[in-house]
Order: sequence, then structure tokens, then C-alpha cells
Amino acid sequence: MTKKLKPATLCVQGGWKPKKGESRVVPICQSTTFKYETSEQMARLFDLEEAGYFYTRLQNPTCDVVAAKIAALEGGVAGMLTSSGQAASFFAVLNLCSAGDHIVSSATIYGGTYNLFAVTMKKMGIEVTFIDQDASEEEIGQAFRSNTKALFGETISNPGVEVLDIEKFARIAHSHGVPLIVDNTFATPVNCRPFEWGADIVTHSTTKYMDGHATSVGGAIVDSGNFDWEAYADKFPGLTQPDPSYHGLTYTKAFGKNAYITKAVVQLMRDLGSSPAPMNAFLLNLGLETLHLRVQRHCQNAQRVAEFLAANDKVAWVNYPGLPGNKYHELAGKYLPDGSCGVIAFGLKGGRDESIRFMDSLKLAAIVTHVADARTSVLHPASHTHRQLSDEQLREAGVAPDLIRLSVGIEDVEDILDDIRQALGE
Ligand SMILES: *Cc1c(COP(=O)(O)O)cnc(C)c1O
Repeated sequence: MTKKLKPATLCVQGGWKPKKGESRVVPICQSTTFKYETSEQMARLFDLEEAGYFYTRLQNPTCDVVAAKIAALEGGVAGMLTSSGQAASFFAVLNLCSAGDHIVSSATIYGGTYNLFAVTMKKMGIEVTFIDQDASEEEIGQAFRSNTKALFGETISNPGVEVLDIEKFARIAHSHGVPLIVDNTFATPVNCRPFEWGADIVTHSTTKYMDGHATSVGGAIVDSGNFDWEAYADKFPGLTQPDPSYHGLTYTKAFGKNAYITKAVVQLMRDLGSSPAPMNAFLLNLGLETLHLRVQRHCQNAQRVAEFLAANDKVAWVNYPGLPGNKYHELAGKYLPDGSCGVIAFGLKGGRDESIRFMDSLKLAAIVTHVADARTSVLHPASHTHRQLSDEQLREAGVAPDLIRLSVGIEDVEDILDDIRQALGE
């Protein structure tokens, strides 16, 4: 098949191509290991001279089928699943950086990624400079150093719902000879494909809309295959120079456009082992089969709810890119023409205390840590996900103390609105 399939078709049928007599549905290969007939056959796999399965910590057929579907949806050359979104963000960066290296990241990113970058990676000797993603190219460019290896941002930030100017970020990254990594969790490839705007690597927490039913934690990394590692060979020795843990094999030479994902699988996954369970990959695939339908409904419902909140006297502010007059409305029109996501950030008059009273009064919408699944839910980041951050870090991360993150589900929107009205005391 040479014609490029549309996202909706890829959601349903991407990845798994059963042959005669094989199961129509993606089979669950619940096996840690795989059999060979000779010692020599197995040895060739360990030398990466032949592709094949030998141990599920590195690769598993069920996981690979689902990774291939996500890679196709993003328009990338190769993809891999990880056991969580956190592992995806970590591997995406660690695949390029060693101790002594540096990356530049938007400050308005998921709280867990912020902690990973600011605390844990710092301990490992990888430094991160956080920048305001709305600043000028010149200003952001000043954060780059000779040891900078990547630029990082989120298509739509969690929880602030800020839209990233992906083309601007790609220009900045490429003018400094580094790839742009974009966390595309909230937009999903149904609404935005960052590679079409110049991003090089995409990461996901598949835990959110992709799974969509809050059944399994997971992540994914996809490579566009577009970044020319060899052109900056000195910057990326891990990809362009021999790997002593594989008898001196060089990833760019041996695997071409698949170098980045192959290295992440055979080196990082081998050594760090953040692999997903095949059963979870199967559940993720069930979610992906309806992603295009659910995302559409999430966006329609969220648009109605955002309009309701914006017109309500008790509401102090609303951030939803679909609202005319929103700071990110224009960027959303460019990068997210079919809709942004189901998540709305807003604050109530009366601040933090009123926000908490409101959340405790909701009946249909549940207070959960989770976001972006079928059921409407709420969270107060300053008290929950972001409670480790200081007030200054909160402000930097775009999290106001009164910010309520409302994740609008796919229930009937009238019932969602009724629940919000009663919690507002109307
Ligand atoms: C949830 C989330 C993550 C982390 O993913 P987990 O699957 O929870 O590990 C990363 N990025 C974004 C944007 C998220 O929403």
C-alpha cells in the first residue's frame, strides 16, 4: 500500500497486519522469552546482526505492533513503547545526553517532567535551563551552551493548557544544531503531528488520551528520522561513535534513520528496563482504536464547558485555546485546527479556598490525579501534582495557586454542565 492512510484509519488498523490464518485482533504475546534452534541464531541477535525477539525487556511483538501504530500516526520512521510517560521523557533525553551535558526546556511542562529534569537528571549531571516558551527566539537562544543537546516542550502544556509555537522551537533548536523533542500527550497525533512542523522526536504519556480509559500507565517515543546526527557527530557521540557494549557497533552507520530508536531500545531499555507489559500494550491498542472519535468528543464537550465558564460571574479566568481572545487562540488555529484537547484550566473568584470548595462539591466529576480519560475529572495542581514546587517554580510552570484543571470527559455535555452549575451553587 503506497497511499498514506488518514489518522482515523491508522487508529483502527495501523500496526497489525495479520497474514492468512492469523488472529484479526493484535495477539497478546505474554512471554518473557523466545525460542531459537541453534546457539548461533541467538548469538546473531545479541550482536544486532539480525533483528528478532529474545527477551521482552528489550522487545516484544505485541508492544512493537502498538509502537508501530503510534509511529504511523505521528508520521515517524520508528517508535517504541515505554512503561510510563516518565520513562519516555527520560529515555528521549538520556539517549542524547551524558553527565556534563545540558538541555533547554520550556518551563511550562508537566510537573513530573519538571521534577525529572530539575532534580533527578541534575543529580545525574545533566543540567536543564528552563525558559519561557513565549519568549523571543533571541531570548530563548541565549539559554543554549556548547554542551546543549536538545530543546524540549509540550504541544499543549499540562496543566496550564498553553500552546507551543512548534515551528519557532524547531528553528531555535536547529539553528543550534540540536533536535527538538515535543511531548505530544495532550494534543495526540489526531489533533497535531509535530513532525509536520519541524519537531524531530515526539514523546507521549499514552496513559492519557491514547489509552483513554485510565486502565494502564504507559509511554511512547517516536523518531521522525529527520535529524542528521552525523552532521553534528561531535555533539552526539552516543549515536555516531562505536558502542563498546555492542562490540564497537555505530548506530548511525548500522541503522541509518532507525539509529535513535534502535539505540534507545538495545542500550537504554536493555540497561534500565522500563518496558511495558504486553497486556498493557494490548489495552493501549484498544484505546487507540477509538482515539479519533474520543478526541473529537472531548474537544466538543470542552469547548462548550469553556464557553460556559468564560461567561460565568463566579469564574475569575479561563484558559482554553478554543476560546476567542485566549492568549493561545491564534497558535491553536495554526497547530490545532481540529481542536486542542479536553483539558481546561480555570480559576474561581475567591481563589484557592473557593477552588477547593467547588471541587469538593462536584458529583459527576471526580477528584483524581489522572487527566485525559473518558470520565470528567478535576485536580488542583498546587495542592496535588505540583505540591513539591515552590511558589516561584509554580509560577514558572504556569500554575496559578487557584488553577483548577478540569479534564472534560465524553459524557453528555449537559450532565457535565449541570454538575458544574450545582457545584458553583447555581
Ligand atoms: C502524565 C504526563 C506525563 C507522564 O506520564 P506518566 O504516564 O504518568 O508517567 C508526561 N507528560 C505529560 C504531558 C503528561 O500529561
